[in-house]
Amino acid sequence: MTFSQQYLQPGDGPVQISEKELLSRIKELAQQIRSDYTGQMPHLICLLNGAFLFHADLVRALDMPATVDFLQTSSYGAGQQSSGEVRLVKDLSFPIHDRHVILIEDIIDTGLTMDYILRYLQERGPASLKVASLLSKPSRRKVEVPIDYLGFTIPDAFVFGYGLDRNQQDRNMSFISSQK
Ligand code: 5GP
Repeated sequence: MTFSQQYLQPGDGPVQISEKELLSRIKELAQQIRSDYTGQMPHLICLLNGAFLFHADLVRALDMPATVDFLQTSSYGAGQQSSGEVRLVKDLSFPIHDRHVILIEDIIDTGLTMDYILRYLQERGPASLKVASLLSKPSRRKVEVPIDYLGFTIPDAFVFGYGLDRNQQDRNMSFISSQK
């Protein structure tokens, strides 16, 4: 991978996804969404913080009428493990009743966060509810969650970059990297 970001350093782990690969896959996902939602106006909810770049690039690639909103959660517990106890930090700004909602997530690991959010959103009566996740680590799953649009399946490694943090840093890397 060519590396032009001088102050940001990739890790030495097994997952390395270049900016070119990310944008090309996102374009494919956008095409899939556009054909699935013909004649509708999907409402794309970004799960902050990790999905902010994926959401921005996906909505830009969509080329159809769409609306956006943002939801922020934080998981109780320390370190890199999700505790499964999810706390809402920022609620939706717009109602989703009767809307065709697509929830945009950075990565599905144990599935506990997504399971909680899907229940939370379902209670608000959307016309439909689908999930787009940039990454998935299926070997780590504790609860099965549907993923309608998936960017990449990855092995069990801690990844960062392109919205995902490494100790709150490296979200601004234009590619995804991992550490061993
Ligand atoms: P889950 O509830 O599925 O176990 O975890 C989902 C959340 O944990 C993600 O939205 C993300 O914030 C965080 N997470 C899980 N795996 C990773 C990872 O490899 N790297 C980073 N930076 N965050 C992760």
